[in-house]
Amino acid sequence: MLKVLVNGADGRMGSQAVKAVYEDKDLELAGGVSITHIGEDLGEIAGIGTLHMPVRDNLGKTIDDVKPDVVVDFTSPRAIFDNAKTVIEHGVNMVVGTTGLTAEQRDELGKMALAEGTCIFIAPNFGLGAVLMMKISTEVAKYLPDVEIIEMHHNNKLDAPSGTSIMTANMIAAARKEAGIEPAPDKTHESLEGARGTKVDGIPIHSVRLPGYVAHQQVLFGGYGEYLTIRHDSIDRKSFMPGVILAVKKVGSHPGLTFGLENFL
Ligand code: NAP
Repeated sequence: MLKVLVNGADGRMGSQAVKAVYEDKDLELAGGVSITHIGEDLGEIAGIGTLHMPVRDNLGKTIDDVKPDVVVDFTSPRAIFDNAKTVIEHGVNMVVGTTGLTAEQRDELGKMALAEGTCIFIAPNFGLGAVLMMKISTEVAKYLPDVEIIEMHHNNKLDAPSGTSIMTANMIAAARKEAGIEPAPDKTHESLEGARGTKVDGIPIHSVRLPGYVAHQQVLFGGYGEYLTIRHDSIDRKSFMPGVILAVKKVGSHPGLTFGLENFL
């Protein structure tokens, strides 16, 4: 049985992770950490009944006390770098769903993990459909190089553009480069700031934040007299949990950093 500690356990994703870990017969829920709801019952918050397991503060001390095999983190872009360093320094494997880490920070964490002999897995998106959306987009980009991304999320999301859209842009740009094809130049000469989105690897990303949305993305490819749109919609946070559980079970056999769920499929 793998012992799993959830950081950000009282959040929207963290409480789903608590429930998913608790319900998996091969995993043992070791506890939950947050910065609010301290002392409240983890099970009550996750909607699975009383577990007599209070939400704890202080990630490092909780790791010392409960000795988990894996820490799952769904906290905040502001906190994730320090959280990850704490977990790695404690010699524990980690699954990161929190977005907002830069490529440089990921590299640093990967090096730290290798030095400490631990494993860290980071995925901007744990949804199977979202991973397929990215994979299919790289195929299409070899034939239709002109592409823009629109990502739509709930209005409580703290970072923009989304980690998924950044990863999609990175993957499309790499596929275009490998295929040796270039997009048409952007001929916009005058625009209000932000009107053409933000550019990641030269690909415009437009971010929408509205109540009612969960996590959605469209990848729009343009051609001559035709266009192709790939769209993915997560309508329930439950959709991310099979990916989280898969990562928890596989992370320990991949030393250093692994980035992206496609590596575990
Ligand atoms: P949320 O509802 O705000 O939950 C985050 C929780 O973490 C909150 O309860 C927050 O407490 C707590 N927290 C903040 N800083 C902390 C710290 N230093 N230590 C411990 N707990 C801390 O957010 P969410 O919607 O669950 O999203 C969490 C992260 O997951 C975001 O980065 C989001 O983009 C990402 N996400 C990833 C995926 C994926 O598939 N990879 C899918 C959805 C979301 P307070 O409420 O007091 O701030």
